[in-house]
Amino acid sequence: MDCVICGKQVVNENNRLQKKAKDHLRTTGELDVKHLWIKQWKICYDCSEAHTNDDLVNSSEVLQKIEEQKKRKKQQVKAKRKNGPSGVARAHYIEKYMDYATRKAEEDGRNIAKSPRLINGQQYDDAYITYVKSHISTAVLIVRDMVKDIDTKGKWIDVRHLEERFLSHYNGDFSFIIAELFSRKQKPIYPKKMVHETDAEYKNRIAYITWQTATADIDQQRTEGKKGDVYIVLPCLKNEHESMYDKHYIVWDDKRRHFKRVRESDQYVSIIKPPKWRYDIVATKKINHQQLRYIEKNLSKVVSKTREKNGVMLSLFSPQNPQKKKETLSKLKKGTKGTKE
Ligand SMILES: [Zn+2]
Repeated sequence: MDCVICGKQVVNENNRLQKKAKDHLRTTGELDVKHLWIKQWKICYDCSEAHTNDDLVNSSEVLQKIEEQKKRKKQQVKAKRKNGPSGVARAHYIEKYMDYATRKAEEDGRNIAKSPRLINGQQYDDAYITYVKSHISTAVLIVRDMVKDIDTKGKWIDVRHLEERFLSHYNGDFSFIIAELFSRKQKPIYPKKMVHETDAEYKNRIAYITWQTATADIDQQRTEGKKGDVYIVLPCLKNEHESMYDKHYIVWDDKRRHFKRVRESDQYVSIIKPPKWRYDIVATKKINHQQLRYIEKNLSKVVSKTREKNGVMLSLFSPQNPQKKKETLSKLKKGTKGTKE
C-alpha cells in the first residue's frame, strides 16, 4: 500500500506502525482516524509522526494533499492498465502474441490452390469427395492453367499419377504429375441458378457437374480403347513471401489480458508474412504410352529416385541409359576432377 499523503510505499514499517495503533488503543480505548489509517497501512510512519489526527481530519492543506495523492494513484492504475504488464511478464505476453500470430500466418497460407468446396447437405459421389480431398483437383488446375507447353483447350485432364513431394510440410506440394488428355466428346449440361442458391453454391454445383461429365466421358473413351496424350509435369511450389515479415503494431488489451494487433502503436513485433503460393513449372514432357507403362510398372522405383535427388528431373522417368551409367561410374572412380574435362 502507498501512503495517502506522501505516496511513499508503506513497507517494512508494519511493526512500528502497528505498535503505535495498539498503544493508542490501550491509552484511549478507541481508534481515531489517524490510528485507524495507521492500522490499515494508509499512512507511512513518517507521515504518522508529522501529522496529528486533527490535521488529517480538518487541515485543508493535508486534505488537499490526500486528494491529489488519490488522483495520482488513479492515473497510475489507469496507465498501468493501458500499458499492460512490464518486465518479464510483458516479455511473456509479447511472446504469446508472436506465437499466436505466427501460427495464424501459417494457417492462413496453408491453402495453396483452392480446391472446390464440399458444401454440407449436398450429395456427392464418393469418388468426387476423394477427388477434392486428394488435391487431384489442384493438379488439374496446374496442368490446365500454369503449364504453357500443353494445350488443354477442349480437353479433359485425367490425372494418372500425382506424387506429393517427399517430406514436404505442405499439402499440394507435388514432385510430379502425370496427366492424360482426352478430347471432350460429351458436353456438360449446366442447369440454371436456383432462386435460393448463392453464387458459391451454384459455382460448386457447376464444378461437380463438370467433374461428373468429365469422369463419364473419360470412362467411355477408355472403354472404347482410346488413348490420350500423356504428359509429365514437374511443378515447383514457391512461396513468394519466403523470409518476409510484417510489422504488427500491438497494444495491451487489459480486459482479455493479451496483446492485440492495431493499426498504430508505439510498439511492434515482426511476424512472418502468410505464405503466398505459386507453382513454377520446372519441366514438361510429352511421353508415349510405352513410357507410361514403364513408369507405372516401375512406379515405386521411380518415386524413390525422385526422393533421392534434390531436384526431380525428367531423366528419372526413363530407363537409365546403360552408356550413361558407365560414364557416371567412371567419373565416380576418377573423383571430382572429372568435372573439369
Ligand atoms: Zn507518508
